[in-house]
Amino acid sequence: MTKKWVYLFSEGNKDMRDLLGGKGANLAEMTNAGLPVPPGFTITTEACNAYFEAGKRFPEGMWEQTLEALKKVEEQTGKKFGDPKNPLLVSVRSGARVSMPGMMDTVLNVGLNPETLQGLAKLMGNERFVWDAYRRLIQMFGSIVKGIDRHKFETILDEYKARTEGGKDTDLTTDMLKDIVRDFKALYKKELGEDFPDDPYEQLREAIAAVFGSWFGAPAVSYREAEGIPHDWGTAVNIVTMVFGNMGWNSGTGVAFTRNPATGEKKVWGEYLLNAQGEDVVAGIRTPHPIEDMAKEMPEQYEEFLKICDLLERHYRDVQDMEFTIERGKLWMLQTRTGKRTAAAAVKIAVDMVKEGLITKEEALMRITPDQVDQFLHPRFDPKAVQKAKEEGRLLAVGLNASPGAASGIAIFDANTAEERGKAGEAVILVRPETNPDDVHGMVEAKGILTQHGGMTSHAAVVARGWGKPCVAGCEAIKIDLAARKFSVNGREIKEGDYISIDGATGEVFEGAIATIEASFEEEHDLVTLLSWADEVRKLGVWANADNPEDATRARAFGAEGIGLCRTEHMFFDQEGEEISRRENVVKMIMAETDEERQKYLDRLLPFQRKDFEGIFRAMDGCPVIIRLIDPPMHEFLPPREELIEEVTQLRCTNADPEELAEKEKMLHVVESLWEANPMMGLRGCRAGIMYKGLTEMQTRAIIEAACNVAKEGVDVHPEIMIPLTSHINELHVEREKLEKVAKEVIAEKGVHVDYKFGTMIEVPRAAITADEIAKYADFFSFGTNDLTQMTFGISRDDAEGKFLLDYVERKILPNNPFEVLDRDGVGVLMKMCVEKGRATKPDLEIGICGEHGGEPSSVEFCHIIGLNYVSCSPFRVPIARLAAAQAALRYEYGRKQ
Ligand code: PEP
Ligand code: MG
Repeated sequence: MTKKWVYLFSEGNKDMRDLLGGKGANLAEMTNAGLPVPPGFTITTEACNAYFEAGKRFPEGMWEQTLEALKKVEEQTGKKFGDPKNPLLVSVRSGARVSMPGMMDTVLNVGLNPETLQGLAKLMGNERFVWDAYRRLIQMFGSIVKGIDRHKFETILDEYKARTEGGKDTDLTTDMLKDIVRDFKALYKKELGEDFPDDPYEQLREAIAAVFGSWFGAPAVSYREAEGIPHDWGTAVNIVTMVFGNMGWNSGTGVAFTRNPATGEKKVWGEYLLNAQGEDVVAGIRTPHPIEDMAKEMPEQYEEFLKICDLLERHYRDVQDMEFTIERGKLWMLQTRTGKRTAAAAVKIAVDMVKEGLITKEEALMRITPDQVDQFLHPRFDPKAVQKAKEEGRLLAVGLNASPGAASGIAIFDANTAEERGKAGEAVILVRPETNPDDVHGMVEAKGILTQHGGMTSHAAVVARGWGKPCVAGCEAIKIDLAARKFSVNGREIKEGDYISIDGATGEVFEGAIATIEASFEEEHDLVTLLSWADEVRKLGVWANADNPEDATRARAFGAEGIGLCRTEHMFFDQEGEEISRRENVVKMIMAETDEERQKYLDRLLPFQRKDFEGIFRAMDGCPVIIRLIDPPMHEFLPPREELIEEVTQLRCTNADPEELAEKEKMLHVVESLWEANPMMGLRGCRAGIMYKGLTEMQTRAIIEAACNVAKEGVDVHPEIMIPLTSHINELHVEREKLEKVAKEVIAEKGVHVDYKFGTMIEVPRAAITADEIAKYADFFSFGTNDLTQMTFGISRDDAEGKFLLDYVERKILPNNPFEVLDRDGVGVLMKMCVEKGRATKPDLEIGICGEHGGEPSSVEFCHIIGLNYVSCSPFRVPIARLAAAQAALRYEYGRKQ
């Protein structure tokens, strides 16, 4: 028995989309639900694949089954294919598993020829209409099936239109249409050396082959590449009885959504045109009317349509996007599919549908993507304005989409000017080769940050994400000339003060300003509701990375349940309104020659740190706060070596200020002594804590003093002190012993009891591998996956993205940027091993993640799978992580054995 290649609409259903394509499956579903669908059938996606496998030949039995199905359609319609008296006409339409809008072919009016045309004209009493249909068939068949340049047909058409008074399609007379058909046929013969096939069966056969062929047409192939759709899915072909919306003023055609796809409002939304065919609407030849107008123009059909909308929405339990045609008063449904919608509409619709009892909360949660949540949290460009900018050729370059959100402002090339002009009320985009902590004051005042170098975990990216500020990083196409205060890109120059716009969600950089739409989380009531449902199902806690009370407060408003990483080094830089310079004391502390001298400066720094911690503890009343002890190499707090060499040389040459020279020489000496070839693998993390006497003791004292002080105020405080970059148990052992002594001392001094924990970051592969040992001295682990990724891959997090990593991703050498999406097969295996070993030693060991992956949905899912207690991410990613954690919980068992 030959395989079944063809299904009548009555034989299919909505769950057969793999075989029948989305359009075919839904036409079948509507047919079986008793809705008015023109009779037809579907040739399967398997037939398409078999066609290509057999060297572009129909598989055995397919054509015979097509003819049989066509007979059934003839019976259903009472018409006959090719019959001069009462001819059946069909459309031949593509339809893949997922919608690929406009990528594949459709041929209409198949079955028309000079004989059937006469019969049809008589039946309809409308000769003009039939000749128009025939010229459309030749035009579509010639261009789509046979590949004749469609402009050649249009040129002929335009010539005739030019002879009419109105100059439009509708002004062409019957005689003109007859002449056009003659000219089209002549063109066809000239181009192909053969006559246009007037045999309806040949038309059908070739149209089917053409639709199959369009699966591997260039537009469809590139669309699939971009969307990640497999090439072996194939397209189905739908053969549908033609119905005409252009048969006079009691006919029409339209497209509609069951709810507004832009706002989510529960009201049918769409457009229609009387006396028109679908393609007229698409081609914009005439302006369609809002669907509500149908209530006046065609009240009966409108009523029926509204009922169908309601029925379809209840049936599919989701918003539908439909096409319909009215042929001489009779409504026909030509398509229904899940309606695409904006993020705002998606959230409103999901929440409304739960309230209406149409879907469950769980279903609602699965219908929103984390990306859509993200769109709520940042200002974004008006899509129309972006389109216009692109059309005007203002897209300058595309860098890394390092921190979402959009901003327009004047390009400024140094932090001081950015601060100054930002404070003066100007919108500033800070443009730097890369940023470092010295640029922070300028970054604060800037609306967005653009860097030429650096990756997704570069300073600019991490800081910008933390603040929810747009950032495009690693935009290597722009060549910055700091001295000339400009950058050039593809032969164009942007000078200081020129307007540019950056989109941190896409990485795009534009010349000139682009209109933005603002965001406000608290006012997004539907999103807040949806995320509260996410909280009900998720197993992972969602904490935030925050270094100051403002960020902590914001994180809480976004739903954070703790601070998973407070980076204390940011507190070593100057803060506004403070008389004593923190920075100066830090520098002096590093340069100190004796322990006593160092202690003097540490003592000066302590009150600042304590004050900062008090603020954070207050903001996080009742929640855990993990504070990480100093992590970066000390040279980061000192001026750059090159700068010092230059200054010292100048001072030596000019002999101007011997005192200053001596001081700079001393500093240069210290900087040179601290210089390391690989600072990321150098004297940093717990190593700095161990080697710089008094430093982490001061920090611990500041933390516990702050905790005791706020506890006295009645704040419920839970400090967790985190030791970074442990690679050997002994490091943790000595640090913890030393610091715990300090903690106990302070508690005794203060006479207040606070619970504290000591734990470590897992950032070095060796720590993960020896987690059973490490757990003996740790009350908690936190995966620092930025460093763990860097050290597992042996790829520099600061340099690689700008140099080769993105190229790797493009060439599919790596599936993703591992600094963005957690590498489950490598870094992930280490993490899993670490969790198992750590909990073998301490079953209740608290384990979280605070690397940038903590806010990335696929990484959050992995953290759920391996059973972490929480993820911690920048405040603006907290809502995303809440949803991602809920979706992971709905998809996978928590901490499941793999
Ligand atoms: C990490 O390494 O993942 C981490 C959070 O620490 P940092 O990015 O500050 O090195
Ligand atoms: Mg780290």
